[in-house]
Amino acid sequence: MASVTIQGVSKRYPNGTEAVKNFSLDIRDGEFVVIVGPSGCGKSTILRMVAGLEEITQGDLYIDSCRMNNVAAKDRNISMVFQNYALLPHLNVFDNIAFGLKIRKTPKAERKQKVLDAARMLGIEHLLKYPLGQLSGGERQRVAMGRAIVRDPAVFLMDEPLSNLDAKLRTQMRAELTQLHQRLGTTFIYVTHDQTEAMTMGERIVVMDNGVIQQVGTPEEVYNCPSNRFVAGFIGTPPMNFFRTEQDGAACTAGVRPEHIQLCGANTPGARPAKVDLVEFLGAEKLVYLNMSGETIIMKTAADTQIAPKQAVFISWNETHMHIYQT
Ligand code: ADP
Repeated sequence: MASVTIQGVSKRYPNGTEAVKNFSLDIRDGEFVVIVGPSGCGKSTILRMVAGLEEITQGDLYIDSCRMNNVAAKDRNISMVFQNYALLPHLNVFDNIAFGLKIRKTPKAERKQKVLDAARMLGIEHLLKYPLGQLSGGERQRVAMGRAIVRDPAVFLMDEPLSNLDAKLRTQMRAELTQLHQRLGTTFIYVTHDQTEAMTMGERIVVMDNGVIQQVGTPEEVYNCPSNRFVAGFIGTPPMNFFRTEQDGAACTAGVRPEHIQLCGANTPGARPAKVDLVEFLGAEKLVYLNMSGETIIMKTAADTQIAPKQAVFISWNETHMHIYQT
């Protein structure tokens, strides 16, 4: 286990791309941090710099209190799990998990014990003799995790490890990864473009855009108090509604989350007229797409709300739920 300190780190690739700009973050020993942002925002580059697979152009990286900038990847005591698992298709599950230990010449008995322990933890004991080709996507994902676990690293780095699994399996693996983190107590740094993964797994979330940190906070902090319009629009699904408004005589953007919009009477203070464009029934709730003075507003409402397309309604929201951005 180890803390990771990233101080003022920037990355400029040889072709001039500035992938990461002045990134600073203190990750506590044993913490589960998720770095989230759209494709190309620099998430993988950060992870690869921590892993030692990419040189740091500027700034400092510490694992515990040791400066790592010039330490080779193999000497950083880190395990990395990628989206494409880099497993060896001609080997069985046991040998895939044991692969790194074998290369490091770990004694055979110790190797076996570690593989069995990891397989038990991941619920794949019964698959150890199976050739990799007979495994499902989720099982392969567990094998890749197993390979990372047996190395007993100080830090786990994960780069979109679930993105090629189907939606149901992703949900299941999310929960499994959270439990695995609780069991291992090791520092996890996890990269994803999927805000739901970030919200559900991260103890803290780092939202990035265009190489720059936009906000760092717990899922609750980032969801309830997004520090700028980018974070407000990126975190949350369906996304926050934005519309032009005025405050103190100046034009600005207001944001209200779909669950904070409600139907009301015409005489309710702050009531705004809107027309229903579309209603989506999701089982436990309905999403209602409204046209409010030419702007599309999504309202989340109870499943039994009586509402239909073309209906004229009034909507309102509590001012405390309105976010104002000066852009
Ligand atoms: P993300 O993981 O958020 O999708 P990356 O860290 O992979 O983003 O990439 C960040 C930016 O750096 C992108 O603009 C990408 O095109 C660029 N980039 C990534 N790798 C290289 C490279 N080896 N050489 C030049 N540019 C790169």
